[in-house]
Amino acid sequence: MTEPPNAVLVIHGGAGWISRESVTDSMEKAYIKTLEEALIKGQNIIKSGGASLDAVQSAIEHLEDSPLFNAGKGAAFTYDETHEMDSALMDGATGDAGAVTGITTIKNPIQVARAVLDHSVHVFLSGGGAEEFAREQGLEQVDPSYFFTQKNYDRLKEVKVSMTVPNQEKLGTVGAVALDTKGNFAAGTSTGGMTNKRYGRIGDVPVIGAGTYAENEVCGISATGHGEYFIRNVVAHDIAARIKYAGQTLENAAKEVIATLKGKGGLGGVIGLDSKGNVVMPFNTPGMFRGYISLAGDPIVGIYKND
Ligand code: ASP
Repeated sequence: MTEPPNAVLVIHGGAGWISRESVTDSMEKAYIKTLEEALIKGQNIIKSGGASLDAVQSAIEHLEDSPLFNAGKGAAFTYDETHEMDSALMDGATGDAGAVTGITTIKNPIQVARAVLDHSVHVFLSGGGAEEFAREQGLEQVDPSYFFTQKNYDRLKEVKVSMTVPNQEKLGTVGAVALDTKGNFAAGTSTGGMTNKRYGRIGDVPVIGAGTYAENEVCGISATGHGEYFIRNVVAHDIAARIKYAGQTLENAAKEVIATLKGKGGLGGVIGLDSKGNVVMPFNTPGMFRGYISLAGDPIVGIYKND
């Protein structure tokens, strides 16, 4: 994939052990179609003068509604065979952010993050409180059985019986970064977290600066991967800080951070956009569902390393 400037939206559907051998032709088509649709939804918003926050939210909602990705409908199972979803959204223009963890019944967790950003004095809500807030905001609730998918249930069983299932098998998340025609960034991320997670584990996704970050004139970043490493290394903010304080390009900053992370055992990737519309999508796993679009162009998507 070439990565020209002037992109307005970049998205990911998770990094992991994704190889040509492990994805059937029909699955590959379905992944590509869903990623393209998400990009076009976001592009339409930006094209009509809409806000980057709306474009990010709309692209993420589309991915959350698909069973293919680990977020919303396709969320991974916890050890207790439930779903506890995390999401975050950040406005690069104002520095406002909304984040939630432990969502169990709200159909689109990114909507809860948006509601926190827009309507709460707080930044980060958890569990029962986050659910109560979402209900007060009138967000669509579903029975927890909505989040059941056989694929994810089978994966949980595999992970439980075999400690040899590598960590990377448990990865997946969705995210988006947009730059609107007013020059405002937004970044958002949504996930079911890691399969078989326990004890109310929270990943990097809703931790502002770890899995999600946006700052006008600097960049927007959304991450995917082994969350504990992304939290410890404050990955999204580290990339922004390198650009802001050390004068690195987005490309150099993001590539270095993801390579350094691999050296520490942290698997995953990021998507990013700078204020010129340069896109980066580095990852240190065999694959990452990803794509970008310019204001008037067609969606460009990739899955494997050399796409
Ligand atoms: N970063 C997510 C988490 O740790 C998982 C992923 O992106 O694959 O919860």
